[in-house]
Amino acid sequence: MKYYSLRHQSPPVDFRTATITGQAPDGGLYFPETIPKLPAGLLREMRSLSKATVAVNVMRPYVGTTIPDSDLQRICAEAVDFEFPLVPVQEGVSALELFHGPTLAFKDVGARFMSRTLGYFAQRGDTPPVTVLVATSGDTGGAVASGFLGVPGVEVIILYPSGKVSPVQEQQLTTLGQNITALEVSGTFDDCQALVKQAFQDLELARRRFLTSANSINVARWLPQQLYYCFAWQQWPAGAPAPVVAVPSGNFGNLCAGLLVQASGLPLGHFIAACNANEPVPAYLRTGTFAPRPAVPTFSNAMDVGNPSNFVRILELFGNDVNKLRAALSADTVSDADTVAAIRQAWTEHGYLLDPHGAVAYAALRRYQAAHSGAAGLLLATAHPVKFPAVVEPLIGQTIPLPAAVQHLQNRPKRSVPLAVDYEQLKTHLLLEVVSY
Ligand SMILES: *Cc1c(COP(=O)(O)O)cnc(C)c1O
Repeated sequence: MKYYSLRHQSPPVDFRTATITGQAPDGGLYFPETIPKLPAGLLREMRSLSKATVAVNVMRPYVGTTIPDSDLQRICAEAVDFEFPLVPVQEGVSALELFHGPTLAFKDVGARFMSRTLGYFAQRGDTPPVTVLVATSGDTGGAVASGFLGVPGVEVIILYPSGKVSPVQEQQLTTLGQNITALEVSGTFDDCQALVKQAFQDLELARRRFLTSANSINVARWLPQQLYYCFAWQQWPAGAPAPVVAVPSGNFGNLCAGLLVQASGLPLGHFIAACNANEPVPAYLRTGTFAPRPAVPTFSNAMDVGNPSNFVRILELFGNDVNKLRAALSADTVSDADTVAAIRQAWTEHGYLLDPHGAVAYAALRRYQAAHSGAAGLLLATAHPVKFPAVVEPLIGQTIPLPAAVQHLQNRPKRSVPLAVDYEQLKTHLLLEVVSY
């Protein structure tokens, strides 16, 4: 499998090069040259296969010959080493819980897959010491930090918007130490992302430090997200109509992975992009014009993205044809007030506790169902509600117990480096910091 740059100014590369470079030299995102079909036998058997086996089968064509079978099996088994239950919420609505991994959010799968792939390439001496540079709106940073902690040959630098992530999220970013550094930026997620993008385009920096990205633009983080949809399908009643799938979306990597695996033949129904007030994609589907805009803060902060990087991949998948896209995908905008109402409703009427991101998807799915009677569906519950106590706890009038996965972070000191929204400051930091292994 080769990957081409969506800007078409760089040569196609294999999975290894796409993973260790993150982005093409021309600044474009990598996209697979062909969309592999899921073999009929795999689909027939999928319900009875282990998660790791499904993972190997789905990822194998994308990885090609860059990782041998035994290593790919180990990487896949470690990446999906927790539960992904499809939990009924009410008649016609189930939640695919993606928050049972080490950082309680769905990004764990992509981060674990990518860290282990990069670790594999580094161990073979295929890469110089790598610096993973990543911007986070909340959950990416924690998942990347946990996934890469202690991986030899890899240094991780995380930029996060100061005051705009939750306490648990901040602990996950700032307390691990070792090869993980958190830069606390006095700005928004979009500012962090812009700084990171600028660093990747800085040729002088590139000569001094080998940088790669762990945002969902990296194929090794983006592609394994297809697995969630396979795990949902494994648990969806056999013979029932394909589910409508509501995906809480910010940078649109997860949704794009869902559309990709659907294009590979996984029988899924209509997709819903569930967005908060940051709604360039809903606006695009309404008007046919894509206009990035500054991010605005919401309760679902991991989706506060004004210029979603992966949207170009979705356009590519649909041949840049807005009408084709509209046939497969609806989009909805859910306000903070409606998010709160959704959390309250699912809790009081059905005893199901949603986090603000899952709640956006729940609200969007319910609205879609109201307009399309009888369409049974599922939502992706992307984070554990305990990550957002300030929003959730007052609504339910109780404290959410801290899962074991984050308890150990409680009393560790926060360590972060303050950073202005100033590229020269970032560059100075990147050039000064000594990389030692
Ligand atoms: C990152 C994140 C999202 C958005 O996912 P994208 O792939 O960026 O669209 C949604 N929910 C949670 C909890 C997240 O951490």
